[in-house]
Amino acid sequence: MVTDASQTKERATQPLAPGLYLVATPIGNLEDITLRALRILESADLIACEDTRQTQKLLNHFGIQTPTVSYHMHNEGPRAEELTSRLKQDARIALVSDAGTPGISDPGVELVAAAIAAGAAVFPVPGANAAISALIASGLSTDSFVFHGFLPAKAGQRRTALEELPRNGMTHVFYEAPHRIAETLGDIEAVFGAEQHIVLARELTKLHEEFLRGPVSGLRSQLASRAAIRGEMVLLLAPDTAGNTQRQSIAAEVAALMQSEGLDEKDALKRVARERGIGKSEAYRELQREQSRKR
Ligand code: SAM
Repeated sequence: MVTDASQTKERATQPLAPGLYLVATPIGNLEDITLRALRILESADLIACEDTRQTQKLLNHFGIQTPTVSYHMHNEGPRAEELTSRLKQDARIALVSDAGTPGISDPGVELVAAAIAAGAAVFPVPGANAAISALIASGLSTDSFVFHGFLPAKAGQRRTALEELPRNGMTHVFYEAPHRIAETLGDIEAVFGAEQHIVLARELTKLHEEFLRGPVSGLRSQLASRAAIRGEMVLLLAPDTAGNTQRQSIAAEVAALMQSEGLDEKDALKRVARERGIGKSEAYRELQREQSRKR
């Protein structure tokens, strides 16, 4: 519901209540800062930042002079304690990450829990977020979606995470790094088949914002033809059982070749590796991973 404009104005002129303010900042376009975020950043006693130098650029742009302190994954525990003791003394602390919504694949969760445990008020100050921005423009279902953050960096764990996704049409949203996207798309094709529809949202809200939508095999060729894959990106897919031809496991392919062509296991594995365009040792690792999952 929209509040009355005079009420909003009245609240804006009142001093900030004590507590922890989780302030979203832009993910690329500075116009995406909200009026409320600016007011809170300006009136807080302190801004806890993932990277003080990064946030200082934003503060300079908007002429905000509030003192800053670092709060990042390497000092989250001890810093959360310090900030909580200030909250107990009725401080007004704003928490920001480098970009987007704090606490979403960014530091913040520990501080929020500590602040709540200490009886401090916690206020969300909503704004930009890459996952939701990508989701709403993806064309995929928004009725039911799961945000996973980053996929595991290790190849085997990533493949397992993808294999375990439910195939019920629900949308799955991932953050992904440009240096890993080619491998991840290869895994998606191996797990869900060449026709699996995916959406890749790059450089959201920035000058070169781009949405790539289509079967994973097509997107892989498109990206392979580029000199480099750059920029921040969100990957989305909504697998279902209909229409997705799932590739057989390596173990099943090896067994089939042993039976149909009389090959021994080593030669069958070599053949599967060649057909999949991967090395023998990678095929062997994958076979071991499949077997360990079955145990
Ligand atoms: N807290 C942030 C948020 O609310 O979106 C996310 C921080 S996480 C460390 C950074 C990841 O978010 C990037 O690797 C990328 O996957 C995604 N991301 C951030 N900004 C983006 C943008 N402008 N376009 C696409 N993806 C973005």
